[in-house]
Order: sequence, then structure tokens, then C-alpha cells
Amino acid sequence: MTRPPVTIIGAGCAGLSLAAALPQHTTRPVIVHGQPSLAEKQPHIWGFWEMDWLSDAAMLSRASWPVWEFSAPGHPVIRHMTDTNPYHALVSSDWLSACRKKAQTTTFDNNNVAEQLLAPDKATDTVFDSRPPYLDEPFMKQHFLGWEVYSKTPIFEAGIARLMDFNTDQSRGIHFIYLLPFDAHTALVESTMFSLTTEPDSWYEDAIKAYLFTQFSLTDFTVERTEKGCIPMAFPARTHSSYPAIGSNSGAVRPSSGYAFTFIQKQVAALARQFSGTPNISDIHVPRPHRRRDLLMDAVFLDVLKHAPAQAPDLFITLAQALRGDELARFMSGIAGPAIIGKIIYAMPKWLFLRSAFRVCLDALIVRLKGAVS
Ligand SMILES: Cc1cc2nc3c(=O)[nH]c(=O)nc-3n(C[C@H](O)[C@H](O)[C@H](O)COP(=O)(O)OP(=O)(O)OC[C@H]3O[C@@H](n4cnc5c(N)ncnc54)[C@H](O)[C@@H]3O)c2cc1C
Repeated sequence: MTRPPVTIIGAGCAGLSLAAALPQHTTRPVIVHGQPSLAEKQPHIWGFWEMDWLSDAAMLSRASWPVWEFSAPGHPVIRHMTDTNPYHALVSSDWLSACRKKAQTTTFDNNNVAEQLLAPDKATDTVFDSRPPYLDEPFMKQHFLGWEVYSKTPIFEAGIARLMDFNTDQSRGIHFIYLLPFDAHTALVESTMFSLTTEPDSWYEDAIKAYLFTQFSLTDFTVERTEKGCIPMAFPARTHSSYPAIGSNSGAVRPSSGYAFTFIQKQVAALARQFSGTPNISDIHVPRPHRRRDLLMDAVFLDVLKHAPAQAPDLFITLAQALRGDELARFMSGIAGPAIIGKIIYAMPKWLFLRSAFRVCLDALIVRLKGAVS
């Protein structure tokens, strides 16, 4: 008897990671539809904190840092150290080409599918859709441009990642520099903003130049590589098509941070495991990428950022100050327990967050009432 295929739409992070994970659990053929993604053709860095489910990614990563910092004007630098959950930088094309190699039972159809092209037999076929979800504008975005710079003189402190440094121009919105030093000469320096609208490339480039000058007196450097992106910090309005959604299509991009890689890997590993043995197709369900309580916290936090953007540097510093390195890593990776959540709630300014919590609840109620009326 021929075994029905598992069809995956989209050859990005989620699609290829699932194709790589499936052969460990099923002999069913896999078909991936979609052109190679930008992450494969123009590599960028995927940052994540090492967790149990990320050992393969950690092994493949280009660099890792057991120490990282948060900085903002008027605050001492907050430095975290961890033996257990270092921060990693993985080159996207390294991961995706490793996935293609592991995906032994997969046929790659390098063409994008038309909306109605796939008409699988619902009774036997299994289709997962990783095309990006629809989002209703306006929504908050994390937009950035990064340069991998090379300096002849050794100036970077190789063991310490700067995850957020707010000592930079705040005139256009919430803005920080993210700096990953690969060695004393080479670093990825990214100008990152949280706001509703993006800026021209020259704006981020000027911010990087100004930062390198003020922090390192560096003017003589070469740009080895550029990466840029715009990641939604929002809750997807609708998934792409009615097939079960995976990856960002299922809401895997964490709204409050833009991190997605760790959540996608956890989701596809758990999904692939369900194929072990001979399960009924109706028993296979895509795991939710985030816990409800994390999404509720994200909704409140995003509302705070929207209504009090000027306070963002203080809030991120307060958050970092409240936690140890391993605690921050767990929180950012969606596995914070009640003690960590309690520490965060205790540290945050109560009135600001209560107002936002009230607004979020009211909005949810209005949406529900509208749904009931229509
Ligand atoms: C520059 C950049 C840096 C990032 N850095 C980080 C980071 O440091 N850490 C982190 O956790 N996250 C990061 N992210 C966010 C996140 O990891 C990515 O967005 C992730 O790639 C989402 O994976 P995905 O597979 O869900 O979606 P995508 O990678 O967007 O894949 C969707 C795929 O669907 C394809 N597709 C669309 N239409 C069709 C069609 N009709 N037929 C077939 N295929 C189709 C697209 O071409 C694409 O390949 C970053 C994102 C970017 C862009």
C-alpha cells in the first residue's frame, strides 16, 4: 500500500525544519512546495538561547555567548552570565541546508503553490501550511538593518553580546543597538527599532556609524555583510489558508520580542513526534507555539510599549535587572515558571501595566461582543 504523503507549503524555517524532523518518525514521503526562502539565499543570523530542544542548532551555530548585556542611559550596565543557556547565533543558510540534507524522504518542488493549486484528499493527505499569516495594519514592527563589520584594530569584547543598548537616537521611536562580537575584529552591529513604520536604510546605517564612533571611536571599518528585516510584533489576524498552520503562520513569532526560531523548532519537533507509529491523521495536531499566559503578558506589554514608548529603555532594563541570565533565557524561550513570571510582575511599574491590562481585557471583550452580534 502506498503511504500518503505529508505535504508542506513553504520552504522557509518551519517548512524545512519539519521536513528534516519527519524522517526520524515516519516513512511517509514528504513533499515541500516553495522556492528557497530569503533566509537560504541571503543568510542572516538566527539568535536563540540554548534549550533542550535546540541541541542540533546549538552545535551548528557560528558563535555563542555565556555573557550578555543590557544598557540604557541613566542605568548601570546589566550583565547576565549563564553556564546553562548561552545565547547562540546561527547562520540561517547553515541551518536550512542541514535541514535539506536530513530531509531524506522529501521531494522538493521548488515552485510556489497557487492559492487553489493543492486539492489534497482530506481523508488521507496531510498538509501543513507555513506561508506567512495575514496581519491587519497598523501593527507594531521590529525593523532593523545590521552590518557585519570588520575592524583592523581589535576593538570588540568577544565574550560579551550586547543584546540591547539604548544609548542611541530615540527620536524616531524605540531604538537600540544589538551587537554580536564574533571575535575582537568582527561583529554584527544592528540598529533595531520597534515602531509602526520603517525607516530608510540610511537611517539605520547612520545609527550604526554613530554607535561605532561613540562606543569604540571606530571610523575605519569594512562592511562584510548586511542583513535587514521587518518582523511583526503583533498577533496574526488570519492564517494563510485553512490547512493546519505551522511556524509564523501559526503565530510562532513571539509578539513581544520577534523571536521565532526557538518556538518553531519546539513546535515542529513535537509535531513530527506525533507521526511515530501509525497514527490516525485526525489525531495529529499542530502544537500551539506559545502558552496562553505568555500571549496575555505579550499583549499587555505591547500595549505598554504603544502607549508609553519613551519608557521602553527603562522597562527593558528593569526586566533584565529582575532576572538572572538563565531566568531571562527561560522567559524569552517561553518556559518561564511562576517564580520567574512573579519576579517580572513584581518588578514592573504597576499602574502602567494595570492600565494596559485593563485596555487589553476591554478590547478582547469588545471583539467578543462584536463577534456575537454579527
Ligand atoms: C532578517 C531576519 C532576522 C531574524 N532574526 C531572528 C532571530 O535572531 N531570532 C529569531 O528567533 N527569529 C528571527 N527572525 C524571525 C523568524 O525566525 C523568521 O521570521 C522565521 O524565518 C519564520 O519562519 P517561517 O518558516 O514561519 O516563515 P518564513 O521563513 O517566512 O517561510 C515562509 C515561506 O513560505 C514561502 N511562501 C510564500 N508563499 C508561498 C507559496 N504560494 N507557495 C509556496 N511557498 C510560499 C515563502 O517564500 C517562505 O519561504 C528573523 C527574521 C528575519 C527576516
